[in-house]
Amino acid sequence: MTSYIAAYDTESPGCLAGVREIVAKHEKFEMPATFFLVARTLEADRPEYVALLKDHPLFEMACHSYTHMVLRDTPEFGKAGPLELFPREIVDSKKFIEDTFGREVVGFRPPVSSDDGLKAVPEALRLLQVAGYRYVSSLAWGPHFTLPALLVSPFTYAEQGYPELWELPPCGWHENLLKGNNRCGPVRIGLFPPAMPETIPNDYIKTPEEEFQYNNKPFVDKAVADRMTHVSLIWHPWSLHRFDPEMRMLEMTFSYIRERGIPAVTFVGLLQQLLDGKER
Ligand SMILES: [Zn+2]
Repeated sequence: MTSYIAAYDTESPGCLAGVREIVAKHEKFEMPATFFLVARTLEADRPEYVALLKDHPLFEMACHSYTHMVLRDTPEFGKAGPLELFPREIVDSKKFIEDTFGREVVGFRPPVSSDDGLKAVPEALRLLQVAGYRYVSSLAWGPHFTLPALLVSPFTYAEQGYPELWELPPCGWHENLLKGNNRCGPVRIGLFPPAMPETIPNDYIKTPEEEFQYNNKPFVDKAVADRMTHVSLIWHPWSLHRFDPEMRMLEMTFSYIRERGIPAVTFVGLLQQLLDGKER
């Protein structure tokens, strides 16, 4: 059975206002979530994030690097930072988040991510192992660094020498790009022919309804139809808040998940299911 995972790349000062609204929606729907946190963002508003998230039974804290330094060259969204800073981004960040929340962090999502996860970044894989991570969620682009990211089943990095490190890919649009929220102008991220034409609008989306129609619903529906283990969209509190401060999109999405009877978990919850052999 397909599980639904709500997850948030929490990565800039603008995220805090969004997280306040997000937490309220999760409490209303009793919906679990994974927060991938940039340590520097957490550091800047530490008491506020502690008050919102610490010891919360619905939430998993995971890591989204220390400074949002990219770990792999991407065609449109930055070049990899220097290898000597990888330990800060992967190891020190984990420790800071753990110290802040008093809980082990087992998941990592690299900034920007890539179209084949971290297969091509051996130093990142090595440090993830050293730090004691058990999963990464880093395959967040379609073929040739296109969007949306397609549905991909979990796999391990056994081929790269890390059989116990899992990849748990998200899917769909980086919603900030679907909205033009980065304000960087048109970007070269389309695939032709499109793998899921129903997810390609004619322009930047303008309403929460369109976000649901072009991104959330088609991915949830396809994940269930294709009997995927999970479906998890790529969301950013700063961008959600700028576009839809009342978080109506979350209301629509969580209502739909409940209506369809889809179980909701966190990423670490999904990992546990995989290790228990409940899902293949
Ligand atoms: Zn990010």
